[in-house]
Amino acid sequence: MHVLEAIRRQTPSLSFEFFPPRDPAGVARLTSQARRLERLSPDFVSVTYGAGGSGPLGRLGRDGSVSATGMLRQVTQAARVAHLTLVGQRREDLVEAVQALLAVGAEAFMVLRGDPPGGPGGDWVSTPGGLTYAVELVELVRQLSSAPVGVAAFPYGHPTAPSLRHDAAVLAGKQEAGADFAISQVVFDAAAYFGLRDRSELAGATLPIIPGIMPVSQVTRVDRLELYSGAPVPAPLLGLIERASSGEELDQVGIAWSVKLVQELLRGGAPGVHFYTLNSCPAAEAICRELGLTGRKSR
Ligand SMILES: Cc1cc2nc3c(=O)[nH]c(=O)nc-3n(C[C@H](O)[C@H](O)[C@H](O)COP(=O)(O)OP(=O)(O)OC[C@H]3O[C@@H](n4cnc5c(N)ncnc54)[C@H](O)[C@@H]3O)c2cc1C
Repeated sequence: MHVLEAIRRQTPSLSFEFFPPRDPAGVARLTSQARRLERLSPDFVSVTYGAGGSGPLGRLGRDGSVSATGMLRQVTQAARVAHLTLVGQRREDLVEAVQALLAVGAEAFMVLRGDPPGGPGGDWVSTPGGLTYAVELVELVRQLSSAPVGVAAFPYGHPTAPSLRHDAAVLAGKQEAGADFAISQVVFDAAAYFGLRDRSELAGATLPIIPGIMPVSQVTRVDRLELYSGAPVPAPLLGLIERASSGEELDQVGIAWSVKLVQELLRGGAPGVHFYTLNSCPAAEAICRELGLTGRKSR
């Protein structure tokens, strides 16, 4: 229950997302970044599963997530949260994936539908013998394991949801199906996060929602930020980005913006912070240092 204890305790939880490396250089990078972040004692690290619409998952994509989850066990004492998606998989493939991830030490799951092959904005295509919505996978994981289950939440609404209210009802349905916590899509401004929390609560979704932070940097371009958040970058941040005259200045803009944002979020009661690292941690690390944020050692 380590992950849930961290999310429910008084001090904020701290967590970082990685993606599975594709080649030996990527493996070295992931390992070194996770080691470096270990100095902040994160509560958990999560590993994505075919994110970004990288195509029908099949064995290969799954194996990448399984081996990255196993690899992180060697380099961090943080709990490992394995993402799991429906894309391109039959029910029996999903059962196998859950078992494989548990076997390499996954301690919790982030259960998602997954980005369609065309990317976050692409059309959804069901897999024969597979599932349609993330809520069905929450039910399946619950049947297979007692590990905590996290789900996605959308501060600006899911791109294909008919309304924010529908989104909130979907989140409440996932809680009812057994989800324990949620992590939000990239959030740029605290008001969007608080709006998500308030409308979720109204719909009956009282589970803790951890805001997802992706600092703008040389690694994280504006188009990428917008693609993942599903919302345009706010004009004041865009102005700062446009005025940055070098990569280093851009990094500083991202750090300064995120420091303020995280302060506001925590002051307003967010249960923790989850950084989307894109396997590059300097910005996230700088933000945590500035705010004195650490994870499990602060308990
Ligand atoms: C923290 C986080 C981590 C992520 N990690 C990954 C990853 O590792 N790999 C990856 O590929 N993607 C990842 N994603 C992206 C995510 O998979 C996509 O945003 C996906 O489009 C939606 O996933 P979901 O789990 O919310 O799906 P769902 O809950 O299935 O929702 C998808 C759409 O269907 C609608 N819907 C849901 N249930 C119903 C219902 N019962 N009836 C009618 N409509 C319904 C929703 O409103 C929404 O519009 C992540 C997103 C977040 C926020």
